Amino acid sequence: MLKNDQLDQWDRENFFHPSTHLAQHARGESANRVIRTASGVHIEDRDGTKLLDAFAGLYCVNVGYGRQEIAQAISDQASELAYYHSYVGHGTEASITLSKMILDRAPDNMSKVYFGLGGSDANETNVKLVWYYNNIRGLPKKKKIISRWRGYHGSGLVTGSLTGLELFHKKFDLPVEQVTHTIAPDYFRREDLSQSESEFVAHCASELEALIEREGADTIAAFIGEPVLGTGGIVPPPAGYWEAIQAVLNKHDILLIADEVVTGFGRLGSMFGSDHYGLKPDLITIAKGLTSAYAPLSGSIVGEKMWKVLEQGTDENGPIGHGWTYSAHPIGAAAGVANLNLLDKLGLVANAGNVGTYLNQQMKAALGDHPNVGDIRGEGMLCAVEFVEDRDGRKFFDPAKKIGPQVSTKMLEQDRVIARAMPQGDIIGFAPPFCLTREEADKIVGATQRAVEAVLS
Ligand code: PLP
Repeated sequence: MLKNDQLDQWDRENFFHPSTHLAQHARGESANRVIRTASGVHIEDRDGTKLLDAFAGLYCVNVGYGRQEIAQAISDQASELAYYHSYVGHGTEASITLSKMILDRAPDNMSKVYFGLGGSDANETNVKLVWYYNNIRGLPKKKKIISRWRGYHGSGLVTGSLTGLELFHKKFDLPVEQVTHTIAPDYFRREDLSQSESEFVAHCASELEALIEREGADTIAAFIGEPVLGTGGIVPPPAGYWEAIQAVLNKHDILLIADEVVTGFGRLGSMFGSDHYGLKPDLITIAKGLTSAYAPLSGSIVGEKMWKVLEQGTDENGPIGHGWTYSAHPIGAAAGVANLNLLDKLGLVANAGNVGTYLNQQMKAALGDHPNVGDIRGEGMLCAVEFVEDRDGRKFFDPAKKIGPQVSTKMLEQDRVIARAMPQGDIIGFAPPFCLTREEADKIVGATQRAVEAVLS
């Protein structure tokens, strides 16, 4: 491979990186790593350094890197038909086949899938569909969306508003007025430490009820949530949470959007998080695991109840005024078909459940008693470790100390393992590809333990 010695300079001079400290990067004060190739759970940079990617990119390369079946499907599709649009009833063999495969795997009572490119635009679509739905039903006031603090739903105007993380609002004039937030189902971070888990669940439901009361149920259209909070800290819901929340939503005629961008297609060891936790959503957001990120593709799976009203809407108003040039792009769709076939063929969803459970168990065995480890939690192939200054009093570290980032940096330096320092709190997250082996899980746990010793002893 030809080495371009100017790459570092070009990067700092020309490339606007997302989610990056722009000034430090431009000044050359922060790392830039140029990734050249990847295989299985490992990525390799242009200097030949090989790293174990325990976050599967951005929890998206679910089948692992270097899968030739998907690369071939993309190549074949590009040769045969790189593009045609999907407006006014057009489609391709790949897009139609993929929509059938998704519906075959989706929870009950789902009807159709609309394709976009990424999780943010899929959630933008969802919000528009919710508004359209209530306009067609003659409920023009019923438009607000309730999200949760610590939720992550994208970084567009409305989706960045849905995201309940400070960094995504600050100086962007977000959230927009149609979005409001309720508390996160984060038992570890509960305000009242005396609460039992079931008392905390009742508290979450009553907070939601109080918010609906304050705003007026006739103004609230939908509630959006990830089955497991992801970027907000990888927090599985306490037992009974979704049941309690759905009871409140049903009482007030509020739709449920399950954002399954991370959990969809197997990350919890079940095909969908909705089935895993008994959610009955009206809309499901999918992206990442749909193609394992081999090509950009997302989707909004629309439930039967909403679909009927959307049909009625077009009878009354003409074709739906929503679509992107790249909706159902054939290359993304071909990648999706090959990816879902591979998941089945290799039994990767079951492996995510089995090896993910092992990873969580081993992490608890290695670090569960450490005085600065407040919580270790996870589900399927998701795991998080949260650090605290004082475990008994649950006293958090001063954020300025950046303990989470220090631990993940140490893991990289010492053992070449990538974990993700989550953006709010001293939390490091793990979301490896589903093909992870037990030996690789052991390596991740060992690297975490050594980094914790180095940073916190
Ligand atoms: N929803 C969830 C749950 C996500 O985790 C993400 C991204 O991490 C998104 C939506 C946004 O997806 P994208 O970054 O593809 O726009």
